[in-house]
Amino acid sequence: MDSKDISFVIPLLNEEESLPELVSRIRAVALGQGWTYEIIMVDDGSTDASWKVISSLAKEDANIHGIRFRRNYGKSAALHCGFDAACGHVVATLDADLQDAPEEIPDMYKMIVADGYDVVSGWKKHRKDNTFTKNIPSKLYNATARRVTGIKLHDMNCGIKVYAGEVVKNIEVYGEMHRYIPYLAKNAGFGKIGEKVVRHEKRKYGKSKFGLNRFVNGFLDLLSLSFTSKFSKKPMHFFGFTGILMFLAGFIMTVWIIAAKLIHQANGQPFRAVTDQPLFYLALLAVLLGTMLFLAGFICELISRSAQDRNHYNIKDRF
Ligand code: UDP
Ligand code: MG
Repeated sequence: MDSKDISFVIPLLNEEESLPELVSRIRAVALGQGWTYEIIMVDDGSTDASWKVISSLAKEDANIHGIRFRRNYGKSAALHCGFDAACGHVVATLDADLQDAPEEIPDMYKMIVADGYDVVSGWKKHRKDNTFTKNIPSKLYNATARRVTGIKLHDMNCGIKVYAGEVVKNIEVYGEMHRYIPYLAKNAGFGKIGEKVVRHEKRKYGKSKFGLNRFVNGFLDLLSLSFTSKFSKKPMHFFGFTGILMFLAGFIMTVWIIAAKLIHQANGQPFRAVTDQPLFYLALLAVLLGTMLFLAGFICELISRSAQDRNHYNIKDRF
């Protein structure tokens, strides 16, 4: 496969109206820069005429490629297949709804090739979306993501991003993890991650494909990613540690209950039956939870022992 200066990967679902303008603007940018390019349009199960539009655009320009899913799998799946097909030294992603401006890409491209960034994410500083459903929750979401991931981005889930080609070949976007690609990149050893303020437009056609539930799902995914990035190769360190804490708590409570009873008994004072005390049930619960955490740890160790990538490391140089 010929390698290109840049691959544009566009995930899309029912965006028939925007595609012609999007493609002509991308082409103008690429030609203006003198880049060799390809545009990979991934149709994520559209039910409108998107695929027809893509096919007719591709007839006029051999640099346009289309991938069409049989059904809607989600933006992450679309990006995954687009990344898989991309052959550019640099790979750019854009939403298909014209909210992202392709004209921003040359500056981001320079940050990759001249300044050595692995990933450059857009930052929709002046966001043209609904304040209550998008802007405010998004600020909260980004603050949480910054804390958990340690990546100082203002707009982690921005659709417009530019990557060094090597990055997209070394990460696997799955589930709904498209929100955290910079974190996936960081976990794969591509730690030079920058951002650039980008223009943002109102959605001209169609409607947003993501509702408010994306914040709940996004938060759960962040938890999973943070857990797997820390413990997937040593799950017992997590479960064993919390298990020990539980056991210890249970043990101390048990000793306390028995000692209190014996002391009272020895002094001839009235004493309660062990099972009459709320603490007894807490102790029981703690010991049981401790045992279950250990069991979870052992099971996870068995799983991670047989994981295919248990000894996969990203080697940068060797001689
Ligand atoms: N998209 C997709 N598959 C989906 C949902 C969305 O490929 O299941 C595409 C969509 O067509 C658009 C991009 O992902 O190109 C971002 O979606 P959208 O504009 O709806 O998100 P928002 O800007 O509202 O966050
Ligand atoms: Mg959009």
